[in-house]
Amino acid sequence: MRVPALIAAWSLFFVALPTFAQDLPYAKKVVDTLTSPEYWGRGYLHNGMGHAADYIANELKILGVKPLRGTNYFQNFEYSINTFPGKVEVKLNGTPLVPGLDYLVTADSSGRKATSTLIPQASGAYQSADGYIYVTKVKKLTFDAAGRAEVKPTTMIQLNQARITAKPETIEVNIENIINDHFKAKNLAAIIPGTENPDKYLVVSAHYDHLGGLGDYAYFPGANDNASGVAFLLNLAKYYQAHPQKMSIVFLFFAGEEAGLIGSKYFVEHPLIDLKKIRFLINFDMVGTGDTGITAVNATVFPTEFDILKATNAALPASEALAQVGSRGEAANSDHYFFTRAGVPAFFIYTMGGIAAYHDIFDQSSTLPYTKFETLFKLTTKFHEKLAQ
Ligand SMILES: [Zn+2]
Repeated sequence: MRVPALIAAWSLFFVALPTFAQDLPYAKKVVDTLTSPEYWGRGYLHNGMGHAADYIANELKILGVKPLRGTNYFQNFEYSINTFPGKVEVKLNGTPLVPGLDYLVTADSSGRKATSTLIPQASGAYQSADGYIYVTKVKKLTFDAAGRAEVKPTTMIQLNQARITAKPETIEVNIENIINDHFKAKNLAAIIPGTENPDKYLVVSAHYDHLGGLGDYAYFPGANDNASGVAFLLNLAKYYQAHPQKMSIVFLFFAGEEAGLIGSKYFVEHPLIDLKKIRFLINFDMVGTGDTGITAVNATVFPTEFDILKATNAALPASEALAQVGSRGEAANSDHYFFTRAGVPAFFIYTMGGIAAYHDIFDQSSTLPYTKFETLFKLTTKFHEKLAQ
């Protein structure tokens, strides 16, 4: 049976219409899940990072995206990490403080059980009489991750100056740390084979680990850093599974980023594909905002691709386009770095503006704005199309 010409023309039109539909509800579900207490900041306690790896693997499986090599998505490795699995208690001038809100112990601290008077230092900090506890008032509490080599013999306490107005005079700490020299982590790697050039790769990457938590007291949800990037990659996976490209699309979800780009370094040293066949890699880390646009690290190293990225943005309707596509040079600030050092052309893209939460308990799903999430999605798929031409 033949369809009337007019209808046929319309159905062709609809089929040919480029569908850049970005599934924002799905992205939000991913971020909600990965930032929930069950994942405990995707770190070192309560198997948070392991649960996150299993969750991502399951999502990839549901989407029908295949493992890059072998029968599962995982690439295993291990590293050293300082953890605070037990007591994390601080009393200042006799008053108990709330971890995460009033204070943080720094990631490179040793544990300690002690009571001491505090002596003001010329720097404005305070030191216990025995010299083993340092206390500083800060504008913003910021946690991090540290391996054995970075751990100091001292206990370093940050006090939130907005909440702690009293002059520090005495301190009582009961903080337990354990250095785990063989923390087991895994990267995840998946592929959607290209239809014309399957042995050429467009790689997208994002780290899924974050900082974990402090005992059962507090955890760092890491919504923007970097559940947002994971959600972005899973959305790309969903899209490319329905719209395979000429080149293969490779998805890399890294562990150990916060502890020093350990997962991506491991992948570069033990690559599951020929790194020379990567046409371009884009690493997404903190992409949940965008009021003032995006920044591309390595823009000055790869000016041709950066021009394509800028032109792609300029061609978007003004209501959607990014306010700015900022340019930076090389920087060892996320998982693109060791790829760049190995000669792989790469950008690291992050969004700018919006929330100030970073490496603290406030980087939460409920306040992540997703301001330019959809625009960045369009930009990425169009950029990929141009590179594959
Ligand atoms: Zn981070």
